[in-house]
Amino acid sequence: MSQLGIITDGAILIRAGKILEVGPTRRVENLAIARRAQEIEAAGKVVMPGFIDSHTHLLNGAWREGDAARSVRTSTAQRLQYRAQAHVQTMSRHGATTIEVKTGSGVDPRAEIKLLRVMGNLNGDAMNIVPTFLLRFSPVSPEPLSELALTEKLEHLLGNIKRRRLARFADVAWESDGDHCKFFERHLSVCRQHGFGLKVHAGPRKTADAIAAAIRALAVSVDHLEHATEEEARVLAGSPTMAVLAPASTLRGNRPAPARTLIDAGVPLALATDFDPHHNPILSMQTLVALACLYLGMNHAEAITACTINGAHALGCAQTVGSLEPGKSADIVFLKTGDCRDLAGHVGENLVQMTIKGGKVIYQEGEVAPRDLPDRPAWW
Ligand SMILES: [Zn+2]
Repeated sequence: MSQLGIITDGAILIRAGKILEVGPTRRVENLAIARRAQEIEAAGKVVMPGFIDSHTHLLNGAWREGDAARSVRTSTAQRLQYRAQAHVQTMSRHGATTIEVKTGSGVDPRAEIKLLRVMGNLNGDAMNIVPTFLLRFSPVSPEPLSELALTEKLEHLLGNIKRRRLARFADVAWESDGDHCKFFERHLSVCRQHGFGLKVHAGPRKTADAIAAAIRALAVSVDHLEHATEEEARVLAGSPTMAVLAPASTLRGNRPAPARTLIDAGVPLALATDFDPHHNPILSMQTLVALACLYLGMNHAEAITACTINGAHALGCAQTVGSLEPGKSADIVFLKTGDCRDLAGHVGENLVQMTIKGGKVIYQEGEVAPRDLPDRPAWW
């Protein structure tokens, strides 16, 4: 995670939205195929892969315990999309090019399908949206359902989601009720049979069970390991399951997320915002890099790796995004600095000057209002 593979004075050749070549400028410019290329000047700037935010609750409504589905049901799809679109655009401005979004309104088929269809509409040229169906146990239904009734309901919903290709991953919120371990494990194996990739949303309770289940199920990631111990980190090391930390979700507590424990145990780690417009306000991956360096004991290279290629691994899409390599999508961020360590040192500042997604410029920093200020007021 500490090796960024920086090329000083480098160039990237892009064609049809994909990276064709990366290397020292002189070599890339001398390629015959580069001769008629349109040039984008980047002297003195860091050029890096777009950020991958592998865990968000972007579409969460303002809900209290038990009424998550109601808040989705009472909003039109248009309204949900309109609100989410504004957040997605802000994320582009801060350099994200791929974000995962979870459902999680409980097992209300209409609410869940509505959220997944909104995600489908948000997905496009400007942002890769990776949709995940999150099973949340606590707000499942106003009146408790038997496990049998719930299984039948889920079977129908999963079939529907699969048929319409609405989600790529299935996730279970272990945090909401660790007492349903057996049920969660059965659900994960049904999801696998349906062809979904798997994730496990761990939490403060029964983290060890969540990790063990994620490994057994060959989940692509186990998330929210903010309470993981050294022993749990050792269990996770060497497994194919990625660890995802959402350090912003523990900001209100006084215990920093155990990034160092996980990395030192040899666990590949991704960082994600866990952005939720009502409960978790950080949506900038740059802020996460800074937090990781200031509070979690990570160095800048580890933090950048965790927010780019490791995020891509946590979404099973590292073959196509997450780093600047030939054959990958041209998802590229230009920073207004020549030193990527500034990401750790400039907390809250947006260092992104330009974001390119699939070879197209989707964001370019605008001008601040011109300096010809109005006449000085009399009271000055
Ligand atoms: Zn979460």
